[in-house]
Formats: sequence, C-alpha cells, structure tokens
Amino acid sequence: MNISNLFQQKKAVYSFEVFPPKPTADYSSVLKTVQELSSLSPDYISVTCSAGGSGNARTPEIARLIKSCGVEPLAHLTCIHADKGAIESSLRNLHELGISNVLALRGDRIEGVKESADFRHASELIEFIRKGPYPFDIAAACYPEGHPESDSLAADIRFLKVKAEAGASHLNSQLFFDNDDFYRFEDMMSAADIRIPVQAGIMPLVKKSHVDRIISLSGAKIPAKISRMISRFYDKPDALMEAGIAYAVDQVIDLLSAGVRGVHLYIMNNAYVARRITESLAPVLKEINGEQNGHRP
Ligand code: FAD
Repeated sequence: MNISNLFQQKKAVYSFEVFPPKPTADYSSVLKTVQELSSLSPDYISVTCSAGGSGNARTPEIARLIKSCGVEPLAHLTCIHADKGAIESSLRNLHELGISNVLALRGDRIEGVKESADFRHASELIEFIRKGPYPFDIAAACYPEGHPESDSLAADIRFLKVKAEAGASHLNSQLFFDNDDFYRFEDMMSAADIRIPVQAGIMPLVKKSHVDRIISLSGAKIPAKISRMISRFYDKPDALMEAGIAYAVDQVIDLLSAGVRGVHLYIMNNAYVARRITESLAPVLKEINGEQNGHRP
C-alpha cells in the first residue's frame, strides 16, 4: 500500500528506519532484525542508502525483505552523485521488486566523488520520479531545526515547499530532542501553506556510540534534560539504555498528545529498543487510531 494512503486511514502513522548491512557483512543479522521489527506491526519500515557508495546496492534487497515479512517498505534514494541513467535504473529495479514508496533525497556529498550534473537538490529528483513511468509514492526529508547548509529555517522552509510542489506526498523529519522545535516547525509549515503530513523523527539515545555519533553528526540541539542524562549515564550501559528508552517514549507521547501525524523511529537496527518503545506506545496508538489499528506489543 502507498504510504500516502496510510495517512488517509490513520491519525498517527508509526514506523521504523533500518540501514542495510555492509556489502561484506552477514545477511542473517539484518534478516532477524527485520523479522523482529515486522512482528511489531509498524505501518512501514524505511531502509536507508548511501549517497553513492557501495551501500546502495543492498537497499532494494532489504526493502524486498521487509515486504516479504508483510510490512510496507520505504526505500531511500539519493541523487547527489547519480546521473539520470543511474536513477532510472534504480527506479526500474525498485518497481520490478514491487516497491512502491521512495524517500527522495539529495544525500550528503562524499568527498572526492563527482557530483551529479543532473540533480542538485531533492526537488529535482522528486520531479524526475514524478514525471517517470512508475507510480511511486514519494516522501522527502525535512529539518525541524533547519538543514545545516541553510541560511535560516525560513529559507529551508521555502525550499521545502518546492519539494512538496514537485510531488512529495509526505515528509520524514530529521531527529530532534526538543518537541518545541518540531511544533514551531509545524507552525511555519502551515504559515507557508505546506499541507502534506510530516512524521516526527525520533532517535532513542540508548548507547554511548549513538551519543557520540549523533552529537557530532546530526547537529541536533541537545536539551539540558538530555545532557544531564548523558553525563550521568554515559559509561553505564544498562542505565543509559533504560533512560534513553524512557526519554524517547516520553518525547513520543507528548508528540502524539499534540496530534502529530506520525512518528518515525531511528532505532539503529536495534529490535529490542523498538520492542520496548512499541510496548509502551501500543495503548496510546490504539487509542488514537482505533482498536483495529493497534501495534502489537
Ligand atoms: P535538499 O532538499 O536538496 O536540501 C539540501 C539543502 O539545499 C537544504 O539546505 C535546502 O534548504 C537547500 N535547497 C533545497 N532546494 C534548493 C534549491 N532549489 N535551491 C537552493 N537551495 C536548495 N542521507 C543519505 O545519504 N542516505 C539516507 O538514506 C538518508 N536518509 C535520510 C532520511 C531522513 C528522514 C533525513 C532527514 C535525512 C536523510 N539523509 C540521508 C541525510 C540527507 O541526505 C542530508 O541531510 C542531505 O544533506 C540533504 O538531503 P535533502 O534531501 O534534504 O536535500
């Protein structure tokens, strides 16, 4: 089912993100992760791709695996280092595999790799997909705190509108830790008359390695509450796991209470964390979406 139909059927869409294993890595661990995540009945599972490295090859394969487990897949697709021919062939491959949802991204530049002469921004990729022969449902990325390259959040939102007008039917947000940033972003979207649904991207900070990576790479603002949690439990794996899960659950419940259209969990291929969070959220999601749409704890 196209993800835009899910937004028509549900008040709040609930999903996970996974990343493919390295080309040389064992397939069995991701298979187990996808099977475990599927058993939690998310509305869909997205699968990332690299911006041009060898990782891209496994994205369609994992998307197909998700589909074979009975869950709708959303395949990420980047264009910053791809020409029209390469994108056309990726789209044909996805279509032939029965994948109908694509998250269209520019991607982050890889140093030393030639930039695309065909695509400079995600909006151009969205337009290309929309004009092509395959009826993909197209999602795009958005940034509640602004994209790091943008001059301002207002400028970023102007370009977000271009993505929506090019044909994106829903948005997945960058991770953030302060819900007020997301609410302000939603208000700015409304003021700019961007009407497509946006899912809030939430990353549970449950491991020291995530903490280091997220703080250095995402540029997300770290609220005092998170800083205290990190400094208190950084070297205490069990406590950090519990505290990180609790923070994520608390953050999501506030978002759902405020009526967000959905939540997308960046669970770093950790099915245990997904299960724990889903167990806590299941009654809340059931209440919002109705009995028949509950997610299995
Ligand atoms: P764009 O929408 O093109 O925006 C990039 C910058 O250009 C922004 O500052 C924007 O304001 C500006 N801009 C946009 N349009 C124009 C225009 N017409 N003229 C001038 N400026 C413009 N990366 C990966 O490599 N693989 C993944 O799987 C992946 N998944 C992601 C999933 C989500 C939900 C998110 C939020 C990000 C993901 N990323 C991924 C990271 C993403 O590729 C980077 O953030 C990248 O820098 C921007 O991609 P974009 O599609 O948002 O780009």
